[in-house]
Amino acid sequence: MIRISEIFGPTIQGEGVLIGLPTVFVRSGGCDYRCSWCDSLHAVDSAFRDTWTPMTAEAILSRIEELSGGRPLTVSLSGGNPAIQPFGPLIAAGQDKGYRFALETQGSISQPWFVRLDTLVLSPKPPSSGQVTDWDAFARCLLPGPETVMKIVIFDDADYDFARDAAARFPQLPLYLQPGNPVVDETAAVDQNSLVDRMLWLIDKTVADGWFNPRILPQLHVILWGNKRGV
Ligand code: SF4
Repeated sequence: MIRISEIFGPTIQGEGVLIGLPTVFVRSGGCDYRCSWCDSLHAVDSAFRDTWTPMTAEAILSRIEELSGGRPLTVSLSGGNPAIQPFGPLIAAGQDKGYRFALETQGSISQPWFVRLDTLVLSPKPPSSGQVTDWDAFARCLLPGPETVMKIVIFDDADYDFARDAAARFPQLPLYLQPGNPVVDETAAVDQNSLVDRMLWLIDKTVADGWFNPRILPQLHVILWGNKRGV
């Protein structure tokens, strides 16, 4: 059984390498991290455990097919940390029907079924999260098979330095930088101006440093829908 927080879509992927791509999101419940700015606490905090539903791979795939009208598309596995759930059978069954699977994780736990993924987004958490990255565990997530990229949220100079260090450790991984959103309450209005300011700061900083490898992207869904869930 897989612990599911929510399944919704199709909508667009709002960030990173698949930005703009229509997708169904499958969000699992539970995470081994507690980031200070986590925007998915409903899928992290055990206080929400009652809202998580144990589902079989067959039941999840059936819901994905229902939402997509049976037309294969990319399925985004997220959380929480989806790496702590047994997603292998879902990926295999979905791919047999033409669906593609992307998974985003902080890279703290590797799973053998990562090799079946089409896209693996590793998102190590910078100092502003309050978490500490185990780089050996992160390296164990690098398996042959999926297109693997790295995405890092940036709030401040320390986060930027962390991203530079991560890029030096894993130069083979395409890197996406994303200005952080400090407003995580889904009922609160997002300060779009401060997001734009942080994005401009980040662009200026990378350009001034002559650091031309990363792509710098906003969270498109936050621009369009704020922190609203399920879109
Ligand atoms: Fe939230 Fe992701 Fe951090 Fe887990 S790793 S606490 S889901 S931001």
